[in-house]
Amino acid sequence: MLAEIDVAIIGAGVIGLATAREIAQQKKEIFVFEKNRTFGLETSSRNSEVIHAGIYYPEDSLKAKLCVEGKNLLYDLCDRHNIACKKCGKIIVAADENDINWLEELYKQGRKNGVDDLVLLSRTQVKKLEPSIEARAGLLSPSSGIFNSHNLLKFLYSQAREKGAEFVFGTEVIGIERASAKYKVHIRDRDGISAFVAPVVVNCAGLNSDRMAELAGIDIAKSGYELHYCKGEYFSLDSKYRNLISRLIYPTPEQAGHGIHWRQALDGRVLLGPSAHYVEAIDYSVDETYKQYFYSSAKRFLPFVELEDLAPESAGIRPKLQGPGDEFRDFIITHEEKAGFPGLINLIGIESPGLTAALAIARYVSRMMS
Ligand SMILES: Cc1cc2nc3c(=O)[nH]c(=O)nc-3n(C[C@H](O)[C@H](O)[C@H](O)COP(=O)(O)OP(=O)(O)OC[C@H]3O[C@@H](n4cnc5c(N)ncnc54)[C@H](O)[C@@H]3O)c2cc1C
Repeated sequence: MLAEIDVAIIGAGVIGLATAREIAQQKKEIFVFEKNRTFGLETSSRNSEVIHAGIYYPEDSLKAKLCVEGKNLLYDLCDRHNIACKKCGKIIVAADENDINWLEELYKQGRKNGVDDLVLLSRTQVKKLEPSIEARAGLLSPSSGIFNSHNLLKFLYSQAREKGAEFVFGTEVIGIERASAKYKVHIRDRDGISAFVAPVVVNCAGLNSDRMAELAGIDIAKSGYELHYCKGEYFSLDSKYRNLISRLIYPTPEQAGHGIHWRQALDGRVLLGPSAHYVEAIDYSVDETYKQYFYSSAKRFLPFVELEDLAPESAGIRPKLQGPGDEFRDFIITHEEKAGFPGLINLIGIESPGLTAALAIARYVSRMMS
């Protein structure tokens, strides 16, 4: 006899955890399957820990709407539950005339998305706010910030458990099979292969989410669900530069990421990154050959920094729907009823601002289920 549950969630990153916590409020029997030994060991713990304001994304996109909603929910949650967090603000800096035009475009885009506190800054105003930074102009986003994502993950995990969600670690989902109105979820753990039956499957498998959709029977090439991996590396600046800046400093956006930015971590260290380059496989080592690139990028705005001030720090991998040179792609958060898969909810391409938007994404998924 197969074990029956109400909801199977695949993946215990920030999206699976937030979703489990949210839908556990509907008192369903929820199992979260995670292939790693514990929660949050992949993209959710390999990122910039930035609370994004919601400036960059096209109006009415899920990325824009869920980022703005998620930002407010996240600040409120951090405040109420003592999760370390700092609304330090961010300045997007311009190095030349071309960049200044970009800033003006970003200003307009942010306003359209409901980010109504943005301020265009002159060179002198940037200098006054951030004396170490040399820039032609800037765009100040007061509602951007940093927070401790590990504490958020821990909090979501313990709340989801308190509300009754079960977590099954060290358990990989290896098959999703239609069984009349339900799904048979095949799993592999250290005891071998077994299965659960659930009418609802929520695919929060991050870098593997396209594969999970394929396992369920979706034609991922036809649906545009295939993921590309885009690696982001970080370097840290020597400890003599602790507290060098007090806000997040971003250059104008590059195509695949938001550009190498500088942030002061909650512990005072200055971190540079992430870079953005497409890779074939998941490998979290930091490639030191990028050091020169990081150095040149930093030097444009922090002219006193030297190459030897940089040390490799960490890396993460973005689950991107757009390949190199492709146009903007939004998050895919879809109930696959119309494709003939009632009860299957796919979350694919949850790259940045997925961390900021996590609580709003969880609400969005919960609404799809009611
Ligand atoms: C370099 C970088 C910087 C970023 N910076 C920011 C930022 O500053 N602010 C922001 O808002 N966002 C940022 N993001 C985006 C953010 O980190 C992600 O959107 C978010 O962490 C995605 O969470 P997730 O739960 O979807 O994925 P993950 O954290 O990857 O979780 C997916 C989970 O699914 C599990 N899984 C996969 N396959 C299976 C299977 N078959 N069976 C069982 N379990 C499985 C995995 O082990 C994993 O634990 C950044 C991302 C990167 C890469």
